Amino acid sequence: MSSEKILVIGGAGYVGSHFVRYALHEGLEVSVADNLSTGHRSALRGTAFFQFDLTGSDALLQHLSRNRYAAIFHFAASCLVGESVEKPDLYYRNNLIAAYNMLEAMRATNHDRVIFSSTCAVYGAPQRLPLTEDHPKQPISPYGRTKLAIEWMLEDYHRAYEIRSASLRYFNAAGCEPQDGLGEDHRPETHLIPNVVRYALRLTNDLVIFGDDYPTPDGTCIRDYIHVTDLAEAHIKAMAKMDHNPLIRMNLGTGAGLSNLEIVSAVSRVSGVKLSPKMGPRRPGDPPELVADPSLAFRELDWKPSRSNIEEIVRQALQWFSEHPSGYPD
Ligand code: UDP
Repeated sequence: MSSEKILVIGGAGYVGSHFVRYALHEGLEVSVADNLSTGHRSALRGTAFFQFDLTGSDALLQHLSRNRYAAIFHFAASCLVGESVEKPDLYYRNNLIAAYNMLEAMRATNHDRVIFSSTCAVYGAPQRLPLTEDHPKQPISPYGRTKLAIEWMLEDYHRAYEIRSASLRYFNAAGCEPQDGLGEDHRPETHLIPNVVRYALRLTNDLVIFGDDYPTPDGTCIRDYIHVTDLAEAHIKAMAKMDHNPLIRMNLGTGAGLSNLEIVSAVSRVSGVKLSPKMGPRRPGDPPELVADPSLAFRELDWKPSRSNIEEIVRQALQWFSEHPSGYPD
């Protein structure tokens, strides 16, 4: 057991709160900072909590001046592709400016380790699959562009100021830990698995699959679903790896893809409810297929997803939404 102290920025969000749970199990001493704009206070237990925003204040600088952390985990971000196209200002502010403020606060207080939530959206439309880390980076949304710009910023801050970083490029985060009161609660919910599960539970009247004319076997998009606790485990391993590798950039996925209709079938199978979604037009910005080549993470981190079975992911989502039909209380 370790008693290292870490700061988790964005720890009240979906991926962040699952990471916090895992880090506490690993024996780390966890502090969380979150502005609670999309996160949930009730997703947090057993940590110190600080409510502040990284944009427009020096709250983090003040905090880091008074507290010393072995590493900072930066989960906080705006993360919806479609919204980023409509409101790029929000993404440049919440993602890029916030990351700049964080790095400057780290630099001023001699904190030199950050683990950053990056995304497969940095690649843009795949030119070849599965996606390897050296695939060209041509993001097609402001969301992907802000994440790639932060990766570049981290490279430059490493060269000039010796800040160590791990940019972990998530594929589709999925699953939850309902036995510990943790679920997926976005408002509005735009993600496929929670939408299909809510439809199966009759918590919503409509389910639309966005596009069935893609160049894939069943015509619907294919994604690589990785369990949030598998992501959490990789973050802890990346923190340890930074002792030897000061600039890590790697994919976190399973290497296997599932189509949108395969997700609908999985929910149907596990819930026993026959589902008949409507077919709608394509959603702007959706590439047909996103599947990771995760071999770099497998090799470098000695990590393999062990919780990313789709039926288990669906079972967890069914349990969470049955027990929390209106989501978190706050
Ligand atoms: N999707 C869908 N209906 C929904 C939500 C999502 O058909 O109600 C599709 C979406 O167009 C994409 C896939 O499901 O093809 C995964 O979308 P999600 O928003 O879950 O994750 P993303 O891949 O955008 O990060």
